[in-house]
Amino acid sequence: MYRSHTCGELRASDINTDVTLSGWVHKSRDKGFVIWIDLRDRYGIIQLVFDEERTEAELLEKARSLGREFVIQVKGKVIERTSKNPNILTGDIEVLVQELVVLNQSLIPPFTLDDTTDGGDDLRMKYRYLDIRRRPVKNNLIFRSKVSMEVRKYLTNEGFIEVETPYLIKSTPEGARDFVVPSRMNEGQFYALPQSPQTFKQLLMVGGLDKYFQIVKCFRDEDLRADRQPEFTQIDCEMAFVEQEDILQVFEGLTRHLLMEINQKEVGPFPRLTYDDAMEKYGNDKPDIRFGMEFAELTNIAQHRDFAIFNSAEIVVGIAIPGGASYTRKEIDKLIDWIRRPQIGAKGMVYVKCNEDGSFKSSVDKFYNQEDLSTWAEKSSAKAGDLICILSGSIHETRSQLSALRMEMAERLGLRNPDHFAPLWVIDFPLLELDEESGNYHAMHHPFTSPKPGQLSLLETDPSAVRANAYDLVLNGNEIGGGSIRIHDKETQQIMFKHLGFTPEEAKAQFGFLLDAFQYGAPPHGGIAFGLDRLVAILGGQETIRDFIAFPKNNSGRDVMIDAPSLLDPEQLKELQLRTET
Ligand code: ASP
Repeated sequence: MYRSHTCGELRASDINTDVTLSGWVHKSRDKGFVIWIDLRDRYGIIQLVFDEERTEAELLEKARSLGREFVIQVKGKVIERTSKNPNILTGDIEVLVQELVVLNQSLIPPFTLDDTTDGGDDLRMKYRYLDIRRRPVKNNLIFRSKVSMEVRKYLTNEGFIEVETPYLIKSTPEGARDFVVPSRMNEGQFYALPQSPQTFKQLLMVGGLDKYFQIVKCFRDEDLRADRQPEFTQIDCEMAFVEQEDILQVFEGLTRHLLMEINQKEVGPFPRLTYDDAMEKYGNDKPDIRFGMEFAELTNIAQHRDFAIFNSAEIVVGIAIPGGASYTRKEIDKLIDWIRRPQIGAKGMVYVKCNEDGSFKSSVDKFYNQEDLSTWAEKSSAKAGDLICILSGSIHETRSQLSALRMEMAERLGLRNPDHFAPLWVIDFPLLELDEESGNYHAMHHPFTSPKPGQLSLLETDPSAVRANAYDLVLNGNEIGGGSIRIHDKETQQIMFKHLGFTPEEAKAQFGFLLDAFQYGAPPHGGIAFGLDRLVAILGGQETIRDFIAFPKNNSGRDVMIDAPSLLDPEQLKELQLRTET
């Protein structure tokens, strides 16, 4: 038996117990006549003691030779500590060691394995197995496991069945490139790894399973943005005989269950915002509503004077920054520089200081009088002491720039409290999105999403006006889930493919199996998928998903520990009929 107890569980009540423990040498302190060793395992840290008085010389010498991260087994007796450590749960006791076995040695780890480490990101990734020994990383993985378990518990209680769908499939369009896998047995042919199990879960509904879920890996070959992973995990779900309302209820329930079980937070009914309202109020389809600072459209009340910049703009829109009236000229200039950075791209910013005495001071005093500014303040709910920041230009760009400013100011003002959870549904998304470059429409969600009832014919006349039965669940400024009610008849699906630019032949070649299935009594159905990595990070009060993934890829999509991707040897390439040169 390697151990009778773990390193985290012994207490004063165990004094005089004989124990066997196994773990890693976390630290050792050698005072000559006495040696203390912190022994660590997943469950905690316990102090071992060896001393001249009570320990045989040979054993003392052996203890002295132990290096950091050696794996050892000890037998000994639990005794009371003379100087107690209130910071750890085992701090009242120590183990007086009588026997010591070295189970394995260790090289000196390349970084310290404490809560805060001296290891940089790259080094920690290369030796991820050591990083995982650190308490914060280990705790994140345990936390993730707990979230997954609560997801399974809730969905299973609701009657969902967990089904595995294949990884070696044919392209599913979720808007990214596919990772492909060459087939050795089918010369020149490739599988695609699923961007999501979308078509399979719909086929499970045709198969009559009624309620499906799966915690599943998805693969998307996208240009990597910060904190994106080429492979990530979804909680993927589908239900038959449902309307949008049914889905919103069940998954609001799931989210509420998680917030309660994991974070002990009770939240009321989730607000619902249409996509159009979200864009108008926050310039963003995943608004952070933990704080206000809603957009005020000033277009109509700001275009009556001689200020050409506003007069020529499609939209004039502002937000009130709480307490911002006290910013110095220099601070405001810095803010303007920030918003003019290429990543944000605003040309400039008009501002109005709402002074404590009720007067206004603006950067456009030449054009607007106090009365004008007062109507702006009213419209943007600015109070005395606030600063109104106003941007203007084309609708889409201006809103997205002001949204970036809103988030930045909230961050600076400490309004994005990770311990405060503000979920909401964003509904009524547009069905299609115009790709400015190619002039083509593509599905905003995916091609299987159904238009709102009665709007199908609008596809012919005004495609961008068509709304979808699609919804996103947003939590603290992050899209954590998204789904839709699906098309479930062949004709509608064919019309949809046509509008997405597929010829009937292309549609048949790529999705013939789904169109076929729709002819055999496909029930009305719909579903949703949550991004598990992001959900776990947010529930854990953090923003980076990488810290909650056991073996993540770096920002270039590489696993630096196993060194992947890597070249194949020529023999293997030949077998797969792949050539590096022609
Ligand atoms: N397959 C979709 C996605 O990955 C989710 C869904 O529509 O259920 O975003």
